[in-house]
Amino acid sequence: MLSREEFARRLEEELPDVADSVPHRWQELGDVVVIRLFDERAWAYRREVGRILREVTGARSVVALRRVSGTFREPVGEVVAGDRNAETVHRELGIRFKLDPTRVMFARGNLEERRRLLESDLEGKLVFDMFAGIGYFTLPAALAGAEVIAAELNPVACRYLVENARLNGVEGRVRVFLGDCREVARFVRAADRVLMGYLKGTLKFLPYACRAVRDGGVLVVHEVFQKRWGEDRVAREVLNALPDGFEGEVLEVRRVKSFSPALDHYAVELRVRRR
Ligand code: SAM
Repeated sequence: MLSREEFARRLEEELPDVADSVPHRWQELGDVVVIRLFDERAWAYRREVGRILREVTGARSVVALRRVSGTFREPVGEVVAGDRNAETVHRELGIRFKLDPTRVMFARGNLEERRRLLESDLEGKLVFDMFAGIGYFTLPAALAGAEVIAAELNPVACRYLVENARLNGVEGRVRVFLGDCREVARFVRAADRVLMGYLKGTLKFLPYACRAVRDGGVLVVHEVFQKRWGEDRVAREVLNALPDGFEGEVLEVRRVKSFSPALDHYAVELRVRRR
């Protein structure tokens, strides 16, 4: 908190022309800090902003992001102060996540979802993580005792996923597949739980999740929905998107975080059965 005030003061003092375009928040990932400079003017001053932020936080490297793009939600940005190598190990809930924030994203807002998985009893359960990234959900699930089949399309994220499984001592419980989860779903049979941590389009993957889950197993669907909708409508939208031959019972609808002024990110848990 104090460093935030100090950062704001230094910006006003040293960069008065752009101070109001620079956010006063940043993300701390291991010994690296990541600041979003989505405003063009702020981006133009990224090195000066980075220098101040590094002095205020004592970070080893400062990464500035210009935007986040595409299916992979890939960061577009660079190191603007400190060590050029931004690869770091971020610790959260006792889990180690190795990543390079100039190459892969780390969503802070899903912390409660990760905690929930870590605290579940998944001993001996089979979990299929369809959008595994660097292991955001795969690692807590494996640490909670599950056998995890993890699919990830982006080779950079996939490499970190393999390394992170090893770093957390769960490489024996995690099988990683570099590829499209729709292909991987063909040979997953009878998963107890399928994690669908995509966003903006998750529902179109439901037929593949249903193919992989056991009768009576659980899907955890992450998706963004209109803020004005409320939980009942969100639950209905997910149930209506189930493929023919399946019926669902919604167990829980959780609002994970605000995604944009109009959209909220939800996690919907549902039990599915074959008709
Ligand atoms: N669960 C993560 C979290 O908590 O932040 C979200 C991961 S990110 C939003 C989605 C990931 O899915 C990306 O790493 C992307 O590369 C991967 N992805 C996208 N389409 C995919 C597909 N068809 N098969 C497998 N992975 C995919």
